[in-house]
Amino acid sequence: MAAEPPLLGALKAEIAAHGPMPVYAFMARALGDPEHGYYRGRARVGAEGDFLTAPEASQIFGELLGLWAAATWTDMGQPTPFWLVELGPGRGTLMADALRAARLAPEFREAVRLALVESDPSLRASQADALGPSGIAPMWFGEAASLPPGPAIIIANEFIDALPVRQFVRLEETWGERAIAVDAAGRLAFTTLALSGLPPRLPPVAASASPGDIIEVRPDAVELLNALAETRGGAALQAVLIDYGYARPALGDTLQALYRHQRVDPLTTPGLADLTTHVDFASLAEAGLRAGLVPHGPLTQAEFLGALGFEARLGALLRAARSPEQAAMLEAGAQRLIHPNAMGALFKVMAFSSPGLNPPPPWRARA
Ligand code: SAH
Repeated sequence: MAAEPPLLGALKAEIAAHGPMPVYAFMARALGDPEHGYYRGRARVGAEGDFLTAPEASQIFGELLGLWAAATWTDMGQPTPFWLVELGPGRGTLMADALRAARLAPEFREAVRLALVESDPSLRASQADALGPSGIAPMWFGEAASLPPGPAIIIANEFIDALPVRQFVRLEETWGERAIAVDAAGRLAFTTLALSGLPPRLPPVAASASPGDIIEVRPDAVELLNALAETRGGAALQAVLIDYGYARPALGDTLQALYRHQRVDPLTTPGLADLTTHVDFASLAEAGLRAGLVPHGPLTQAEFLGALGFEARLGALLRAARSPEQAAMLEAGAQRLIHPNAMGALFKVMAFSSPGLNPPPPWRARA
């Protein structure tokens, strides 16, 4: 990596002046600093970028989510119009594939008001380009709390993992908060701060922690679910959240920085590398329940896509392939989505419905 990231110097100066900075604030700044944050003009998603997401690996991902959205809308009673919302659309590939697949359902496409929640101005431009052929013009919002009211179907892939976490460290008698200080050599280094108040609500696994163990809590995911539940103004909501993480809360530090597909040190790359942590789906489900929503899942990504007709869609694409090379590429991208050693098992899918609605597919089929 080239010169020192501009944000690194700024953070060091702040820590020197004000003392250690909690991991939560560090992650929020590294990703969202208005001037130097990664998701404020530096994010590079895709094969040529820092990390490869499911819609960038295979068109089947967005296509099946488009058909999922159309089936969900039908089951909601075809509210017209309704908001089709994507949180963190990256390059816009998922939504472009989804709307192309949804051509099979013309009434659905006519009812769509497209809303994209995106903090990065340069990604908004890529999203506009990707969605041009769909003929549906999106509206952009900087945060989910400012989405307009009304019935909504919400899709988010690899959005939650980029919301900052607080890390708590088990001490002998109590919990401390993991933070970042400047060491004697002038480098950023982890430290532990005493908590000023009571420890916050921790997942049940916290009870089994030994001194030194770390647990992660994501307050912004709780706020997101509250905002989605509240800003709908009582209108129907179906949301599907896809991300990497664990079905049961676990102990451990999962902070991970990626730069051009390589893991790098999060403390030397703020603003230059993507910074994420594993999503704890059990805590997400609990936050949804508290917000008044009904959670479904999680299923693994392979289970979810399999239930939506993954093999049939792949078969059709392979039959239509123009060359053995193209078929091999389609097959490789598809395997990436569902293979247990790739995204198939680590990635999970969880849905949230407003009370009174049927669960969306494929949970509805199982109900
Ligand atoms: N869903 C896409 C991209 C995932 S990367 C895909 O699957 O390829 C995360 C996305 O969320 C990016 O578009 C990023 O700019 C956006 N993002 C991250 N944090 C955000 C925040 N706090 N508010 C709004 N958008 C955010």
